[in-house]
Amino acid sequence: MQRLQCIACSNHFPIDEVRYTCDCGNLLSVERDTPLPERSLFDSRRANPRTQADQSGVWRFREALLDIDEASIVTHPEGATRLYERHGIWFKHEGENPTGSFKDRGMTVALTQAVRLGARAVACASTGNTSASLAAYAAQAGLQAIVFVPSGKISAGKLAQTLAYGARCLQVRGDFDTAMRLVREACDRLGIYLLNSINPFRIEGQKTIVWELLQDLSWNAPDWIVLPAGNLGNTSAFGKALREARTAGWIDRIPRLAAIQAAGANPFYRSFTEAFATRHRVTAETVASAIRIGDPVSYEKAVTAIRETRGLVAEVSDEELMAAKREIDRMGIGCEPASATTLAGVKKLRAAGIMREGERIVCVLTGNVLKDPDAIMRNVAEEQVVEIEPTIEAVERIVGK
Ligand SMILES: *Cc1c(COP(=O)(O)O)cnc(C)c1O
Repeated sequence: MQRLQCIACSNHFPIDEVRYTCDCGNLLSVERDTPLPERSLFDSRRANPRTQADQSGVWRFREALLDIDEASIVTHPEGATRLYERHGIWFKHEGENPTGSFKDRGMTVALTQAVRLGARAVACASTGNTSASLAAYAAQAGLQAIVFVPSGKISAGKLAQTLAYGARCLQVRGDFDTAMRLVREACDRLGIYLLNSINPFRIEGQKTIVWELLQDLSWNAPDWIVLPAGNLGNTSAFGKALREARTAGWIDRIPRLAAIQAAGANPFYRSFTEAFATRHRVTAETVASAIRIGDPVSYEKAVTAIRETRGLVAEVSDEELMAAKREIDRMGIGCEPASATTLAGVKKLRAAGIMREGERIVCVLTGNVLKDPDAIMRNVAEEQVVEIEPTIEAVERIVGK
């Protein structure tokens, strides 16, 4: 049996009640009272997938996500992304998901729940990736999609992608945090189902990033898992995934989480440096638009995730994250700016002696390189792209003989 459990008080609610917070105002978490299956079940589905759900890197773990019959699952399928090793660091490339970011992993579960609840319309506030993912899954399920984005503040690629899948787009005059407050009010008032990561079913799906990377490593837990931190849904999901994996006996020790913020959008980092004594809110500004968030919704869950994993929070400057992005791009892998906070964070933490030589590190690349072409074009050296006359002499002049 599953229920929606308040993270702070003892209140809980039926799994099919439409609500995102407890009466006390705190966040809800999907919990169950039955033990999780043996990990060998997931390994056999991966080795020998029989259905779309088995093929999905999310629904392969279905008994640990949502109690639902397989026929009701809305799956692309998603997940089953690659784990690359480069220069002794692993990169789990979530940009390889169907809409180009990890958001698909949470969306497939939350959208499946939306259909089960009989929702007619779904909505989110977004810096672009959640909206693209929501739009794609809503299109598949035949639901109306409404997205709230900060006007002029999301990349052209993400906006175009969201529109292509057919969503109605409300460009809010304000920042992400303003759009987030507005969509919550709109959903309450208009009976629209909210699909931001405040929705606990999103968190359930995103747990599978960690489970799949553990599976990629034959369940030999790494020392560190490094991820970008914005609204803190993913940090929360990673913490829950590790807690459940340890309790179920899938792993024998818990990796440490390193959540990396951009210095211009660092409320979680500020709280971390004060041992989480206060919850900070900032006005966010960074080139990494996916994490340009000043008032993260999943703060409390993320604090638990950092504490339970003996984890840490670090910050990197825009220069540091763009330099790291260039490195990841030049490995032939590529990612969007927010994802590169991971490698930038590793460099900083190694220099500080916090991450040590020989430790096994997995960086989670959250979004695809094509998500933000403007960020690339602003960084291209002049000599790398040249317009020429259509003559062989012009070619020779530039690339030599
Ligand atoms: C959503 C997103 C993040 C941040 O994840 P949170 O759960 O909001 O902390 C980081 N990178 C990319 C590419 C994203 O789309």
